Amino acid sequence: MSAAKIRLYVDAALAEGQTVPLSRDQAHYLFGVMRLGVGDAVLLFNGRDGEFRAEVAEAGKRGGLLACAEQTKPLQLPPDLWLLFAPIKKARTDFIVEKAAEMGAARILPVQTDFTNSERIRQDRLQAHAVEAAEQCGGTFVPEVCDLQKLDTLLASWPADRALIFCNESLVGARAALEASGTQSKAAILIGPEGGFSLKERENLKSLPFVTQISLGPRILRADTAAVAALTIWQSVFGDW
Ligand code: SAM
Repeated sequence: MSAAKIRLYVDAALAEGQTVPLSRDQAHYLFGVMRLGVGDAVLLFNGRDGEFRAEVAEAGKRGGLLACAEQTKPLQLPPDLWLLFAPIKKARTDFIVEKAAEMGAARILPVQTDFTNSERIRQDRLQAHAVEAAEQCGGTFVPEVCDLQKLDTLLASWPADRALIFCNESLVGARAALEASGTQSKAAILIGPEGGFSLKERENLKSLPFVTQISLGPRILRADTAAVAALTIWQSVFGDW
């Protein structure tokens, strides 16, 4: 079998000896775009079973079949870190989802806040960005991208054992605040929209026992930059970096 250069996410269960049918789009990508043929190798992962080397058994214009050989990586789960963010413009929202998946977020939750710019998201498109990011970065896990939900509603049923890191642009000191909050094995980061959080949201967040407020420095960052910065700090203090 030739060396595998392509990583592909599939829905099917993966195990040695398992065959995996390809959708029309996957067949077009592998055989039309990447010019693979029968006998060529690809790496497969499904977010549950780890990564497997597979060989093209059948190649057609509208479909195909891959045959799984040995496992090349076990499933590697990220830390139990969620990213909550208020959706912004399309390309910047795509960037946040892509970077969160690359940086090891376990779950991505778009939230509607008082000043959120957009009231709708394309969850399926954002989930596809998370899959592409995992394909590209060698990950074996794909974070779930949830549908847009109201921040208020989410906070009202917040799990008591999960710390919430409120990125508050009107404070100073991130690392010290995180370290002082104690170990966080389950956490979530909250990033606001372009207009920031409303006074009511700020007061509510500050009053909640599970909230830790952090600053990301003296400059106001764009929401997408803030998401990357907060993920970096959390990963370096509590995560798997
Ligand atoms: N309303 C703010 C303003 O114009 O002053 C800007 C909001 S900022 C573009 C979007 C979000 O990124 C904020 O709600 C916050 O969660 C996060 N953020 C940006 N800069 C930050 C900082 N220096 N410290 C903490 N959070 C920050």
